[in-house]
Amino acid sequence: MTTILDGKTVAAERREQIVAEAQQFIKQSGQVPTIALLRGGEDPALLSHAQSVRRSFEKAGFGFAEHALAADCPHEEMVERLRALNSDPAVHGILIQEPLPASVDADALLLLLDPRKDVDGVHPLNAGLLQQQRGLYHIPSTPLGGIVLLEKYEIPLTGKRAVVIGRSDIVGKPMAMLLLHRHATVTLAHSRSENLPALCREADILCVAVGRAGLVTWEFVREGATVLDFGINFVDGKLTGDVAYQEVSEVAGAITPVPGGTGPVTSVMLLANTLNAARWLAER
Ligand code: NAP
Repeated sequence: MTTILDGKTVAAERREQIVAEAQQFIKQSGQVPTIALLRGGEDPALLSHAQSVRRSFEKAGFGFAEHALAADCPHEEMVERLRALNSDPAVHGILIQEPLPASVDADALLLLLDPRKDVDGVHPLNAGLLQQQRGLYHIPSTPLGGIVLLEKYEIPLTGKRAVVIGRSDIVGKPMAMLLLHRHATVTLAHSRSENLPALCREADILCVAVGRAGLVTWEFVREGATVLDFGINFVDGKLTGDVAYQEVSEVAGAITPVPGGTGPVTSVMLLANTLNAARWLAER
């Protein structure tokens, strides 16, 4: 029997805990954990993401602010806004929505983000601290949510073979690192990997973060393996993952559906990271 890794239920449980902790924090500190989204332009995908973050934060009693600059805003203007958010004591988390306008140097901007407010864990300081497991750092919310799901369903990781497809700084690489820290033996695959189906068939845990609908078919999956699908694709207006769900669920031992798998947990982990940021900033 295949276990469905039910992200909706896990997210709802986690949300309840985080909301309770946030209420306690608000009572003690008088501060409401607040996130600010920074972007240039009105790309519909960015607007839709901002909407869903707004809904999630407002429902949890967290603060939310949107800073949308013009699609052709000069780099300096974006920098100025970021510096203002860095130094605003009422803002605890900052999410830079990408893609940024061509006029903005995204790499230079990222380096100016206060790492303590980097609730998406993309600043190199957070990535480095995660790699070395030193001190306090933010972990990108999507892979963090993936680990929460694996742990909730008590999927064994120690000594197991894990393959992660996709090597982005926001999903694939940190996911590989989190699995490694839990003593899995990890392979990080990407677009140049050879014999991908055979490589993936070695996995006890297969994590897919590519952005190609249906890339992973039954041929990629060992009987009984756990499959985490991070993909977000729209096919004929319908949300679908990177995994051919029907056929893979006949082979896998456990699998995340899309929608209702990794997505809802990601959104709750962003709340958790924002609460952590508010705590760290209050302690300084
Ligand atoms: P990304 O930065 O575009 O990275 C995609 C990765 O996939 C790259 O490493 C790329 O390899 C690899 N790749 C591309 N085609 C491949 C192929 N045919 N075979 C093997 N690997 C291939 O994407 P991302 O930001 O990591 O996002 C990945 C997916 O996760 C997207 O669908 C995104 O929307 C989704 N996502 C989901 C959540 C969530 O909450 N579930 C959150 C964030 C993102 P190279 O490095 O060689 O180019």
